Amino acid sequence: MDDCLFCKIANGEIASEFLYEDDEFVAFSDINPIAPIHILIIPKTHIASADDIDEKNSYLIGKIFTIASQLAKDMGLKKGYRIVNNCKEDGGQSVDHIHFHLLGGRQMLWPPG
Ligand code: AMP
Ligand code: ZN
Repeated sequence: MDDCLFCKIANGEIASEFLYEDDEFVAFSDINPIAPIHILIIPKTHIASADDIDEKNSYLIGKIFTIASQLAKDMGLKKGYRIVNNCKEDGGQSVDHIHFHLLGGRQMLWPPG
């Protein structure tokens, strides 16, 4: 999609170092990390938010959790991690291309703010 930051990162228009890539996904470090490990996992195809998951694209979500688990192993997050999706305005979503935050390397607090 034109003018989408994460589409541009996914298609290489904006250079980024990928920690993971396959035909459907990329993962890269968050520019403003809130944990020692803070990785964003995104589909290459433009899906605006979790509210746009439907029967056709829902298979991608399971794959994202598989990628997160693999990245967590790669990063040595033996004690666990958190996966976060912020959905739309009240959910705190600031980039309108669905993404999952993989957070680790410190004890996560609950509830979040
Ligand atoms: P959210 O608030 O859930 O939409 O998360 C968007 C995330 O994207 C934030 O944690 C930002 O720090 C991150 N972000 C924004 N621009 C970039 C960028 N160019 N590269 C990496 N991460 C980014
Ligand atoms: Zn996009």
